[in-house]
Amino acid sequence: AKAAGRNNVSFFDPAMQARVTARAALEADMRRALVNDEFVLHYQPLMNMDGTMAGTEALVRWQHPQRGLVSPAEFIPVAEDSNLILPLGRWVMHEACRQLAQWAGNKRTAKLAMAVNVSAQQFHRPDFVEQVLEVLTTTGARADKLRLEMTESLLLKDVDGTVEKMQRLRAAGITFALDDFGTGYSSLSYLHRLPLDQLKIDRSFIWAAVKEDSGAAIVRIIVALGRALNMSVVAEGVETLEQLNFVIAEGCQSYQGYLFSKPLPESELLALIAGL
Ligand code: C2E
Ligand code: CA
Ligand code: CA
Ligand code: CA
Repeated sequence: AKAAGRNNVSFFDPAMQARVTARAALEADMRRALVNDEFVLHYQPLMNMDGTMAGTEALVRWQHPQRGLVSPAEFIPVAEDSNLILPLGRWVMHEACRQLAQWAGNKRTAKLAMAVNVSAQQFHRPDFVEQVLEVLTTTGARADKLRLEMTESLLLKDVDGTVEKMQRLRAAGITFALDDFGTGYSSLSYLHRLPLDQLKIDRSFIWAAVKEDSGAAIVRIIVALGRALNMSVVAEGVETLEQLNFVIAEGCQSYQGYLFSKPLPESELLALIAGL
């Protein structure tokens, strides 16, 4: 009886039960939020080293009626563990492309590219390619301005199938960035097989680069790798001038980070652009 009781202990662990309940509540709340249209996109500028804006990255936020603006760090992992990332991901793709098409009609914003984050479950759906192409058609957004950001773990799952899907999207003009490079279970052996246009160096390395010699060495190697594989290299999370000067000296082509701007609602982004 005692042994059986012990086996059951974790099941009745009140802390764990509280987590499960909280998660279920968050999921239900997200379902409601999708129906009520509570998600919004903010846009973070991607800057060229000459000070021109190359484009923006669309980053989702939840405009919660009680809690205010909720960070994706809190709800994206939950959405990814449930099937909610599918409708949410579709909404993000549609909204980002709608915005991209609208910007195409304005001289100040016409050249901007739009980067959209894609989750593994979304990408590995059999109809992902058709879904993206359909969004481009319905919104009128230009495929060659759309860049999909994906992580190493996503790309490593079924490399052949992944390459095939990427090729079909590339044929339409869409480009690809490898996000958070260096943080996943990197396998350099597959990298040359993937039709990627851009490597994004995770901000942990940018931060370490100006603090530790080893961090600087990693940035240097990633830039060399990008160059060898014909990809442009983006420094993520640039917060200080020291970091910016470092990544310029190392040969990164562009950067994102609080030094230039946080992710902004569209109106604030347009005000920023008007002031450039
Ligand atoms: P990410 O794709 O790596 O996006 C960059 C994150 O770094 C953003 O956080 C951005 O606000 C933050 N960031 C940018 N510059 C700086 C900086 O200088 N310093 C610091 N400390 N942070 C900086 P955010 O918006 O909270 O997004 C977190 C993550 O959530 C994203 O990481 C991405 O993995 C995920 N995410 C956001 N939107 C979406 C989406 O629409 N779909 C999917 N699948 N994932 C998303
Ligand atoms: Ca990203
Ligand atoms: Ca990133
Ligand atoms: Ca990330």
